[in-house]
Amino acid sequence: MADDPTDQQEPKLRKLQNPTGIHDILPDDHEYYTFIKKVVRHRCRQAGFRRITTPILEFTDVFERGIGGATDIVDKEMYTFLDKGDRSVTLKPEGTAGVIRSYLQHGMKELPQPVELYYIEPHFRYDRPQKGRYRQFWQFGVEVIGEKDPALDAQVIDLAYRINEDLGIAHLFSIQLNNIGCGKCRTKYKEDLVNFYIGKERSLCSDCQNRLEKNPLRLLDCKKEDCQILAELAPKFEQYRCPECQDFHAKLKEFLDELGIKYVDNPRIVRGLDYYVGTVFEFWDTNQGAQNAIGGGGRYDGLAELMGGQPTPGVGFAAGIERIIANMKRENVKVPSKDDIHIFVAQLGDDAKKKCLPLMNKLRDRGIKTVGALGKGSMKAQLRLADKFNVPYTLIMGITEVREGVVIVRDMSKGQQRPVPIEEIVEEVVKLIGEENLDKYSPGEAIY
Ligand code: AMP
Repeated sequence: MADDPTDQQEPKLRKLQNPTGIHDILPDDHEYYTFIKKVVRHRCRQAGFRRITTPILEFTDVFERGIGGATDIVDKEMYTFLDKGDRSVTLKPEGTAGVIRSYLQHGMKELPQPVELYYIEPHFRYDRPQKGRYRQFWQFGVEVIGEKDPALDAQVIDLAYRINEDLGIAHLFSIQLNNIGCGKCRTKYKEDLVNFYIGKERSLCSDCQNRLEKNPLRLLDCKKEDCQILAELAPKFEQYRCPECQDFHAKLKEFLDELGIKYVDNPRIVRGLDYYVGTVFEFWDTNQGAQNAIGGGGRYDGLAELMGGQPTPGVGFAAGIERIIANMKRENVKVPSKDDIHIFVAQLGDDAKKKCLPLMNKLRDRGIKTVGALGKGSMKAQLRLADKFNVPYTLIMGITEVREGVVIVRDMSKGQQRPVPIEEIVEEVVKLIGEENLDKYSPGEAIY
């Protein structure tokens, strides 16, 4: 693959590194991921959603049938390969098709409807990597499956909005809303759209020339300037919406008004995937528009049938976590860091080490975040290390302290130290750190 510079180097000389567009999540960024996951879990749980995880690898049909062969994702962006049994498999490029496959496979229609699910997972698209566009990226998303009502669409949009609000970035995005109609009203529109473009093909980009044959609706949301100019002039879908779709859209807007959610009616939102019908929406950057959208979704009532199941309505959305993090950083939203260390344990001699190991366990069990210098090293070197960890207190144990049954507590900012009997040390540290600052972990009570 020539676009990856590492591929052109001799394998022996090649420095080992991650593939282009597929990144490590380093500890500092994990604080954002942890925070975002917590917000998503919290908001979803409050609304009665339950978590689902579908496999990272699915049979390729799941996406080909679900997303549609005429889409950019299926056409160009899937990581598809044959497994050792010669079956075509694909790293999942998006969440909904897998969730619907799972809903059908596990007979979830027997559960009370609608079934409300959420996911937080990595996805893979062989996209051209650039800022905000990667080959592995994380999305969270929700799906409401089994019922159709504009109130459900409103609830999904509201949930997405509230999550953005909790993350401190809701004001950066506008909700762009459209209704792309059902099979009935869309057929005539597609025909007229294609007719409009006939004779103008040469003004379109090469992707749009392709789309004109395979997926004409996508011509409306191309980002290229010439294509946008034509899209402005193209027939508008609004005039083609059947009365049912018109009514559905009007009701959705009433419900959003009732919820106090602002939106922009935008007839050019079509979304990239074939499975959408009716409601579609995107969260656009108020300055950069679609370029930096953080998420979107819509209704996919025909998807279950495309996948061989009974007709089953559904609505959902997905948002990209990397882009959310970039926006949180841009807005200077700080997330709590829980990785700070409370106590450093320094020791000299094997006897002290023997005492320190169980002591460190006791401290940790009590919620005190503790690290120790268990390798060899002079006391001076260990204290230097303690400084690097930026701990407020260090506990010191040497041969004398073991003999006397005490631990020395060193206040790192004042440089003062004092002995404390070993049996009292845990509670003494709790007093110093403060009960409210402990990292308490409770596995909860299992019910047998
Ligand atoms: P989509 O499934 O294409 O509607 O994407 C939903 C959201 O996922 C987008 O608005 C982005 O925030 C994010 N996203 C999609 N593709 C990528 C990518 N290649 N890299 C990073 N984020 C992405």
